[in-house]
Amino acid sequence: MPDKPFADEEMTFSGHLRRRDFLALLGAGAAGLLTQRLHALDAGAGKPNIVLIVADDLGYADIGCQGSKDIPTPHIDSLARNGVRFTNGYVSCPVCSPTRAGLMTGRYQQRFGHEFNPGSATREQENIGLPVTEVTLADVLKRAGYATGLVGKWHLGMAPRFHPLKRGFDEFFGFLSGAHSYIDWKADGANPVLRGDEPVDEPEYLTDALTREAIAFVERHQKHPFFLYLSYNAVHAPMHATQKYLDRFPNIADEKRRIHAAMLSAMDDGIGAVLAALRKAGVHENTLVFFISDNGGPTQVNASDNSPLRAVKGTVYEGGIRVPFILQWPRRFAGGRTHDQPVISLDIFSTAVAAGGGRLPKGRAIDGVDLLPCVTGRKKTPHDILFWRKGEDRAARRGNWKLVKSGEQPAELYDLSKDISESKDLAGEKPHVVDQLSRHLAAWESQLVPPLWRGQVRPGQRAPQRGARRGRATTTPPG
Ligand code: CA
Repeated sequence: MPDKPFADEEMTFSGHLRRRDFLALLGAGAAGLLTQRLHALDAGAGKPNIVLIVADDLGYADIGCQGSKDIPTPHIDSLARNGVRFTNGYVSCPVCSPTRAGLMTGRYQQRFGHEFNPGSATREQENIGLPVTEVTLADVLKRAGYATGLVGKWHLGMAPRFHPLKRGFDEFFGFLSGAHSYIDWKADGANPVLRGDEPVDEPEYLTDALTREAIAFVERHQKHPFFLYLSYNAVHAPMHATQKYLDRFPNIADEKRRIHAAMLSAMDDGIGAVLAALRKAGVHENTLVFFISDNGGPTQVNASDNSPLRAVKGTVYEGGIRVPFILQWPRRFAGGRTHDQPVISLDIFSTAVAAGGGRLPKGRAIDGVDLLPCVTGRKKTPHDILFWRKGEDRAARRGNWKLVKSGEQPAELYDLSKDISESKDLAGEKPHVVDQLSRHLAAWESQLVPPLWRGQVRPGQRAPQRGARRGRATTTPPG
């Protein structure tokens, strides 16, 4: 589908005044009105709002637009219908906290040692979190004139210096650690539901409460540019759902899948309500909405579905890192398209900063790229190559080739254009491709620093195993 007429001109014209608006104003000879409008634009009123919606532990095939047959997700699907769906969308880590560190900074998180999850809330309270030397997306957008708010899960540190209100967010409602009960706000005293930095009583089902708070944020800030980071913990364990949502799925026999469906349906309702709030406020057209999952589904833990991808959360096979990834901005580009080049969660940072007129932090590598030129067709390939590392598990993707390495074991090579399920190792047939990708991977790793902390393996929990197959979880990574 072609871009909307004048799509490019809209962005170059005094920020965001649309060309047809300008011509209409000139045609009417309305100089006063034009001056008034330009003043408003100069004050930042024309900047797009930015809403970043992150689902937690959602599988690649769990939503309708990704192929789900048993769980209707009309509101998430509407984002794809009105925007662009990235079929090769990746996150920078197969577990929660490192992905969020990359998401907030636009940088491979291993550049600053945020390579593993922090572990339990107790451990996280001590000294673990997104290094304060890092500049967050909220920092950048706040400087660019945005009202900034986080609703939901943080998981980037619990000590006071890591608190969202110290990391660029004006407002915060949610919790600091990697998981939370949905039905009992008193369940985890070390990790309470907070408004700002004050614990609150929250009797509502947590997903519904996060939706309520997100809508209130939109209503409070609808007259100014805002950045809302809506970080649902659905569909991460614990598996809690209310009867209202469970009743929608009488035909799902598997009890865990039924709860998963109910949790996802609640989040989908919530996203629909937030989109409705944007429409009601009259800002839907000029709001970028991102939707992404922070890692692949841990299928055995929450009954998520990564089909047809291999393996699960915690691994660098596709099931751990390839996720639903959608971008909508109605004013800027026409919807209903897919984009098939590899993109990564780090790109959200650069796309949002470019759209919001912010300045990229200086003196550091930014790995994300602005996706808008790719979406509007002016640039074909966002990335030459992408990399992953979590401890001994490493991967690289260039074009259709995917290299997977685990410790000192022989490298594996897959052609994703023919083998999305990574079922046929071609390393023996294509040693030159293995060598080339291995050299790129080593060059990238030479830019990284040692992890600031190690992942914590809980009693009775095995480390992720090499060779985990599709749909068979080998571990229950925390967060
Ligand atoms: Ca997660």
